[in-house]
Amino acid sequence: NNFRHFSIDESIIKALNVLGYTQPTEVQKRVIPLLLDDKDVIVKSQTGSGKTAAFGIPVCERVEWEERAPQVLVLTPTRELALQIKEELFNIGRYKRLKVEAIFGKSSFQAQEKNLKQRTHIVVATPGRLFDHIERGTINLTKIDTVIIDEADEMFTMGFIDQLDRILKMLPRERTQALFSATMPDAIQKFTKKFLKMPELIEI
Ligand code: AMP
Repeated sequence: NNFRHFSIDESIIKALNVLGYTQPTEVQKRVIPLLLDDKDVIVKSQTGSGKTAAFGIPVCERVEWEERAPQVLVLTPTRELALQIKEELFNIGRYKRLKVEAIFGKSSFQAQEKNLKQRTHIVVATPGRLFDHIERGTINLTKIDTVIIDEADEMFTMGFIDQLDRILKMLPRERTQALFSATMPDAIQKFTKKFLKMPELIEI
């Protein structure tokens, strides 16, 4: 398995074997080493390129199992995407026994609240519902050290930008971030200048 070249834990290599991932895709080759090395990245790529695993693999590698509070926050525009990402991260982190929670609107707040009280390593969230959890104090964000913003252009189109802005300002300052987008309109470039630190731009 060629993912071994990235110095990734054997439990994750095993999970990738089960998924049938033996060769990294182009976006994975470029993004995985940067995120493992705590570098911020902006990735311009389409779905279907393997972008979920491009952030999923380094994120699962970085997580410390012993920590109870969430360490990784993945922000995504829709419930469907949140569920897809949750499943991919669960599959990658399965032998490391990682707990991934998806939180999104129009589903039980109480059930999400209860799950967030258990050990949770990775939270995949839509901005609106995440904001509700923050306001009601039902999520602990003090241990977040990695943030992934997926489909940023969709997020902007859907009007999530102000919420995104407010959420990012509430997170610990020391953090590694990746922003994924199919297009890079001015608003997103401005946003990345504001929130990412010396990001590397990757275009696939
Ligand atoms: P994504 O761009 O994340 O939506 O991924 C597109 C599809 O590629 C998904 O069905 C993944 O399961 C699959 N995939 C991701 N990485 C690999 C890989 N390294 N080898 C084979 N399939 C992959």
